[in-house]
Amino acid sequence: DDGSSRLFHVDGDLVPADEATVNVRDRGFMYGDAAFETLRAYGGTVFEWEAHADRLANTCEALALDHGLTRRGLKSRIDRTLEANDLEDAYLKLSVSRGVQPGTLDPDPEVDPTVVVYARPLVRGGLDGEPVFEGPATVRTVETRRVPDACLPATAKTHNYLPGILARIEAREADPDADEALLCDADGHLAEGATSNVFFVSGNVLRTPSLDGPVLAGITRRVVLDLAAEEGIPIEEGTCDPADVREADEAFLTNTTAEVRPIGTVDGVAVGGGPVTQLLSRLFDRQVERACYR
Ligand code: PMP
Repeated sequence: DDGSSRLFHVDGDLVPADEATVNVRDRGFMYGDAAFETLRAYGGTVFEWEAHADRLANTCEALALDHGLTRRGLKSRIDRTLEANDLEDAYLKLSVSRGVQPGTLDPDPEVDPTVVVYARPLVRGGLDGEPVFEGPATVRTVETRRVPDACLPATAKTHNYLPGILARIEAREADPDADEALLCDADGHLAEGATSNVFFVSGNVLRTPSLDGPVLAGITRRVVLDLAAEEGIPIEEGTCDPADVREADEAFLTNTTAEVRPIGTVDGVAVGGGPVTQLLSRLFDRQVERACYR
């Protein structure tokens, strides 16, 4: 399946993937002036839809992008895309750009947004967690820094992914097998992966960089923290350093697509998952079960 038979949802119409195009004057293309969410559907139900819709709203607020669409309207585009592609288990991407406007940098408050939904099959791992990725992640810390909040707030999930792209290039130059790059903030403290949040276990404490730093409020991150709290696992959200991960007892990444993925090595140092990672992975899977297969 090369994906060409799939239907994408572009501005209200379902169109074959190869014909799913956006105007070259679209501000999302010209300037990265767009918000997006990556989501997952399990058994036809979008996991944590309300959280994704909240985050999209926060992004649009940060960009002063008033797209005029209702949450319900956005959701029905997603549901129609799943239906049209006969998909129950899927990776989804929802993008809202500021649309086509006269060609100056200054945005016009009058917005005719470009709204795109696309879906591709992504089956759920077996119950009790056979994951969608191949083994623990090979991770490198990189020199590329996360954009400071003063430039672009980390709460905003926009089409500007160049720091993440540069970080991945840098990581793969250091190790062709690298799966993920860990970015620090401008002061050298640990922030997050290019498309993931990072957790580690030191002693009995589950640690992760706090959202005070330039860290995306990952939805998987939040679900994992809630599950850990319910389980009585001590949690520390604070300032962390790359060395903390290298010296940790366990470490893992979280994101919508990969859920909970153990970190095998950081900068060539073996870390690996462990009992806490396994427990949280299992609890996450149970949460998906509860939320999507009731
Ligand atoms: N940080 C960044 C920069 C990301 O792109 C992602 C993926 N959306 C995450 C963290 C993880 O967020 P989530 O759990 O909501 O997918």
